[in-house]
Amino acid sequence: MLAETLLERIGNTPLLRLQKIGRPFPSVTLLAKAEWFNPGGSVKDRAAAGIVAAAERAGMLRPDRTLLDASSGNTGVAYAMIGAAKGYRVKLCIPANASAEVIKTLKAYGAELVLTSPLESSDGAIREARRLAAKEPHRYYYADQYNNPANWQAHYRTTGPEIWEQTQGEITHLIAGLGTSGTLMGTGRYLKEQKPSVQIAAVQPDSPLHGLEGLKHMTTSIVPGIYDERFPDLNLEVKTEEAYAMVKRLASEEGLLAGISSGAALAAGLVLASKIEAGVIVMIFPDGGSRYLDEEFWKQ
Ligand code: PMP
Repeated sequence: MLAETLLERIGNTPLLRLQKIGRPFPSVTLLAKAEWFNPGGSVKDRAAAGIVAAAERAGMLRPDRTLLDASSGNTGVAYAMIGAAKGYRVKLCIPANASAEVIKTLKAYGAELVLTSPLESSDGAIREARRLAAKEPHRYYYADQYNNPANWQAHYRTTGPEIWEQTQGEITHLIAGLGTSGTLMGTGRYLKEQKPSVQIAAVQPDSPLHGLEGLKHMTTSIVPGIYDERFPDLNLEVKTEEAYAMVKRLASEEGLLAGISSGAALAAGLVLASKIEAGVIVMIFPDGGSRYLDEEFWKQ
């Protein structure tokens, strides 16, 4: 039999060449790592699977303990899916303004939810998870994706090597948005080791109040312990409206229904493409667009 398990389908996502959007830059190749092809629908399947596997190996995650963490959405979905498939209880602290669809998805997988203040965004969820873990340490395995090295290591082991092989070593630039920073740190470290000239570009919102779901404005947030601000070669800021515009262009010009942080990566990619003479730019597209179809920008 050739059948496989659901969790074996995490990773090995396609690297898609943008056909039209990059036309103004004929010597630049724009490639999108389409992470919504993961079974949980986002890049965070990789980190969550890596965190769970590392905790199992260390004996910290057992059937009598509940996996606890804070998440802005996608990591929560990944934990809930993996927890259901492997038989672990999952409890998630999540800002109450998370999308209704994410909340329904988490419930469908059977996760327990603690909704935190929307005003405190993901930092409020982090503080609540820390409080719960400190109060009852034996009840929980606190996965702490922001400080857990298994997060970036999952990308070092999978996302990085996939991109290296898919570009046959021709990549010149990597663009990734910063949430926990796991994607950028792990993928970037692997690629730098293969080819030190690869430029690593980190994407952040241009202001603390933004609509780039999943991304952090680092100077005004709790900075993740796994993030090394000296690591990126380039730091690119994106306005929310620019990302929205790119999401619309991806759908109508490329047939790609991508999420908002994918739009942010593309906005950064086009700025970079206009500045370099030639190159192969790989942009991480963390999730798909179906979760965001009710957003106001689609009505404008
Ligand atoms: N985009 C989206 C939609 C996300 O959910 C996340 C994770 N918070 C990211 C980007 C950033 O990924 P990472 O946590 O690996 O930095």
